[in-house]
Amino acid sequence: MAKRDNIINATGGGVVVRGQNISRLKQNGLVVWLTASVDTLLQRIGEDEGRPSLTGKTHREDMEITLAERQPLYQKAADITIDTENKTPQAVAELIAKVKICCLIGDPVEHSLSPPIHNAAYKALGLNFAYITRRASDIEPAIADIRTNGFRGASVTTPHKVSALKYLDRIDPTARKIGAVNTIVNDNGVLIGYNTDGTGAIKALEETTNPGGKKVVLIGAGGAALAIAAALKEKNVNLIILNRTGAKAKELAKKVGAEDYGSLDKLELVAKSDILINATTVGMTESGETIVPQAFLHKRLTVFDIVYNPKETRLITEAREKGCPIVYGHKMLLYQAAQQFQLFTGHPAPLELMESVLVKALGGG
Ligand code: NAP
Repeated sequence: MAKRDNIINATGGGVVVRGQNISRLKQNGLVVWLTASVDTLLQRIGEDEGRPSLTGKTHREDMEITLAERQPLYQKAADITIDTENKTPQAVAELIAKVKICCLIGDPVEHSLSPPIHNAAYKALGLNFAYITRRASDIEPAIADIRTNGFRGASVTTPHKVSALKYLDRIDPTARKIGAVNTIVNDNGVLIGYNTDGTGAIKALEETTNPGGKKVVLIGAGGAALAIAAALKEKNVNLIILNRTGAKAKELAKKVGAEDYGSLDKLELVAKSDILINATTVGMTESGETIVPQAFLHKRLTVFDIVYNPKETRLITEAREKGCPIVYGHKMLLYQAAQQFQLFTGHPAPLELMESVLVKALGGG
């Protein structure tokens, strides 16, 4: 059922007991928790003697015990919660219809940190918004869904950041320059694409150093490196792009106008640079790998690892040992999400709250 579109699935209350049910429902939809007091629930059931008791006790006791057990699970599962006390089904339906929905489009999306960050921010500001995930292997129908469902916006992630472009009505100049979007805003039916990855990275970097005029070694030539390279060039840095596959470093350098490029055998350039950015996947998971030998790190070098999981990558640990100023990958994630939040809602993002949710989700303090 969870895979089908345009249906309302009125689940039994026990659906939350099995976590797998909720992840299935969340893969493609909005989970709404309708609440009411036990008195109201009993009234609604009426004299239904055929209703089985889960605990072998009276309906009231049965309901109180079961609700107490399930309350935390409902809370965790719900994208939005609506108090149905003294409301007609029509009134409840209207409240659900008024929620402005934003979604994450990608494949996979299950482990994304975006839903907890955005939803916590909506809640903190009392906004009638909800953020859900839409797992999509094909971008075209996923974008068509934004229009037909009247979603307010979407975050776009791997593998759709480039392919999404051709289905949008307008592209913001920064996203156009990068050739990729990570954000879509639905402005009364007009879909506008933005890219907040590069600007998020610059904001994270600027917390520690001003990149203007500095010598920067950027390692990587994938999607994230592309957005960061374009944003760095706007800051007039002296940019060197290095990548395992040298040809891709060259291609990216030509595209953004970088000063130098090469494969990883030019890593010694790090020793004479001001800023080092790792924009590769190396360092993810607990494998503890790093590309840059510690000998090239020095204490005037700001080290920014965009890998955010784990928060403490080996590169970050080794940089700290050398006394380098460091920039964590989760800061980029935070600032790109904050900018998305503002584009979706028109409100400045509650940064501190979003960061604490993010750091907690990453298992850190
Ligand atoms: P991508 O497009 O797949 O690019 C991967 C890059 O990593 C390529 O340059 C690739 O080099 C390089 N690479 C992979 N394995 C390598 C290895 N063993 N040794 C050396 N280089 C290797 O990925 P992406 O979307 O750019 O993402 C890159 C990383 O950034 C991911 O860890 C992602 O989670 C992170 N990220 C963080 C944020 C944030 O907000 N903090 C945002 C976006 C992405 P080749 O070209 O030679 O294959």
